[in-house]
Amino acid sequence: MQLAKLGISSILVDKAVFPRDKICGDALSGKVVYAFNRIDKAIFHDFNAKKGIKADCWGVKFIYPNGIDIGIKMGKDLTVEELPFHTPDGFISKRIYFDNFLVNYVRKEDLIDFREDTHITDIKRTDNGSILKDKKGTTEIQAKLVISADGAQSKFAREHGNIQKEDKHYAGSVRAYYKNVKGCTAHNHIELHYITEFFPGYL
Ligand SMILES: Cc1cc2nc3c(=O)[nH]c(=O)nc-3n(C[C@H](O)[C@H](O)[C@H](O)COP(=O)(O)OP(=O)(O)OC[C@H]3O[C@@H](n4cnc5c(N)ncnc54)[C@H](O)[C@@H]3O)c2cc1C
Repeated sequence: MQLAKLGISSILVDKAVFPRDKICGDALSGKVVYAFNRIDKAIFHDFNAKKGIKADCWGVKFIYPNGIDIGIKMGKDLTVEELPFHTPDGFISKRIYFDNFLVNYVRKEDLIDFREDTHITDIKRTDNGSILKDKKGTTEIQAKLVISADGAQSKFAREHGNIQKEDKHYAGSVRAYYKNVKGCTAHNHIELHYITEFFPGYL
């Protein structure tokens, strides 16, 4: 989207077909909102107006093993009564919704050629860029520049960026959704619970 805003055409490929889910905690912090606002303020303005695909969030609460909790309000310091009259500083949105919302933005951009269901398996560097090929053998893309954003398990970061898994800094995580959770803060804080047994991991 940033490239399109600068008048630069691009091809965006994804192996998935959207809407697709992605395991995540689904928290869109104030930094995420800030990053999108730098591209186009309309994106989060539109997202904020969407009903049923997000929960508004006004801060983060850290709960430590000794029971002490620290709440940090994001952005403006508002009373609970003032919240309905302001745009939230962060959101929680399932990635199946949020990523699809972004993809719908991309689909509207004339300068972005979006190709889903395209699983890139091979990138070869050439003198003037790279050639990408897909698994089905139906796509071949010649590109001056490749931005590889294929996630934490990125094959291309390993092969071309020489970024290897560091066991010392590697952890597993699990995502689950619960209904009828009670006792959330009035400002709808994201809660990070730290437990001695798996510190610095958290829930
Ligand atoms: C349990 C868990 C909780 C998390 N909680 C949060 C949170 O609350 N807030 C937060 O900000 N972050 C959270 N994260 C981290 C966040 O999910 C990732 O940092 C983020 O999704 C990385 O974005 P990305 O675009 O690099 O990769 P991804 O979001 O993984 O996207 C990669 C895309 O590339 C596509 N792709 C992969 N390989 C290929 C290929 N060969 N060819 C074509 N397409 C390909 C995939 O289909 C996918 O759409 C969490 C992560 C986990 C595991």
